[in-house]
Amino acid sequence: MQPLHLYNTLSRKKELFEPLNPPYVGMYVCGPTVYNYVHLGNVRTFLTFDTLYRYLTFIGYKVRYVRNLTDVGHLVGDGDEGEDKIGRMAKLEKVEPMEIVQRFTNDFHTVMSQFNTIPPSIEPTATGHMVEQIEAVQALLANGLAYESNGSVYFDIETYNKRGGQYGKLSGRILDDLLNETRELDGQSEKRSPLDFALWKNASPEHIMRWNSPWGAGFPGWHLECTCMSTKYLGKQFDIHGGGMDLKFPHHECEIAQGDGLTGHDPVRYWMHSNMLTVNGQKMSKSLGNSFLPAELFSGSHHLLEQAYSPMTVRFFMLQSHYRSTLDFSNDALKAAQKGYRRLANGLRVSRKLTYAPTDENGFDETKQRDIRQAVQQFYEAMNDDLNTAVGIAQLFTLLKYINMLYLNQLQVSALGEEVFNLLNQSFATFMQDVLGLLEEGTDKQPVLEGLLTLYREYKEQKQYDKVDQVRSYFKAQGLAIKDMKHQIDWAYEE
Ligand code: AMP
Ligand code: ZN
Repeated sequence: MQPLHLYNTLSRKKELFEPLNPPYVGMYVCGPTVYNYVHLGNVRTFLTFDTLYRYLTFIGYKVRYVRNLTDVGHLVGDGDEGEDKIGRMAKLEKVEPMEIVQRFTNDFHTVMSQFNTIPPSIEPTATGHMVEQIEAVQALLANGLAYESNGSVYFDIETYNKRGGQYGKLSGRILDDLLNETRELDGQSEKRSPLDFALWKNASPEHIMRWNSPWGAGFPGWHLECTCMSTKYLGKQFDIHGGGMDLKFPHHECEIAQGDGLTGHDPVRYWMHSNMLTVNGQKMSKSLGNSFLPAELFSGSHHLLEQAYSPMTVRFFMLQSHYRSTLDFSNDALKAAQKGYRRLANGLRVSRKLTYAPTDENGFDETKQRDIRQAVQQFYEAMNDDLNTAVGIAQLFTLLKYINMLYLNQLQVSALGEEVFNLLNQSFATFMQDVLGLLEEGTDKQPVLEGLLTLYREYKEQKQYDKVDQVRSYFKAQGLAIKDMKHQIDWAYEE
């Protein structure tokens, strides 16, 4: 197995990844709250963990990947008071909450497949795990780590910490600071301490999403679902838990307290957080009004966009930065990404045409052989170094250089030898498609293009230059270029 190192938010350092029960890996990622269209910021986080899932699988792990859908309990403002995000939308639109959930779940799935992410092994919902959540609240009450107040149940941070818990250890928050920050904001008297968080909330009469419980009609606190669903499917302690950086506190901090409170140990071995997609340095978020929907990118209809960008261009754009760095949206960066992605897509197309048919017996070019072997090795090293896709992509371009040389007849396959030739061709295609999830787009059009190209060759031979120009401009309108080379005529994606 590859020596994969992952940055653990909890220990604040890169650690060698050693799953509890190899080759099995349990991985949980907080999914979306399905009450509005996913924006490009959300996409970044899910792409990060899709890439991790792909790489773990690629290097031989058997991953159970659980990504939930939050369909109840996430309140407007992310705190313990106020309306449910989904319930609020349902009221505004005068529809059933589950209609809201279904609509945005469908959208989420569509977007995830547009970006070629692999569906998780299990996609559980909070409403589907009400029994587990009620049982967890009962267990925490029985442990003395929770208390009931007016039909709501809160986690008792002070008692937890007195018993050795370290609330704040994931996010590095200091309890006294937190107390100072929250005291003024939080005027409610139901809680013993403003730091305590809701495990179960009593539903006011106008709250439409409600379930019966030993404490009356109510609904679960937002953090509880992830504790219940992750441990139900992955065990009381599991390998990887991921999400966006903004979930570190309070969401994941609360998950640690809940899990620890229920079992007496940390629920998660490796906590991973993907950094934010920003616009002019500010987090992309629907509430800030700076978010883009994927559909707006694909059509180019958003006022901040200079043109349309395809899903794979956007995927490439995101993979070009390391997941722990912020990534700022910009037209220039996307244009550069389009160029880069198209170069790779051209490489993928021509690599499929290459075969090992040695013609030249001049011996091996050892420098090139070494360079190719090294690029392959360095791709693994980059991915093993906390999933450094940025460096990995640079290695892919090294491999691309040799693929293009073979295609252009500047290099003969015999100079590489069969083993290195296969290594080059297979590594390029699998790194690009299987690990980075970058596919060639629009392949369904290719049979028509090949037919047109046959006509083009004929028109050229017959010197029918008006028709030659017509075909050429048809390709151009599709973002493609006809390449008249010495040894052949072919088409390519315009870079
Ligand atoms: P939400 O539906 O708001 O809970 O978000 C779903 C996921 O997207 C969470 O993991 C968030 O951390 C993540 N997320 C939200 N905004 C951004 C952003 N601007 N950049 C990256 N990830 C984000
Ligand atoms: Zn969660």
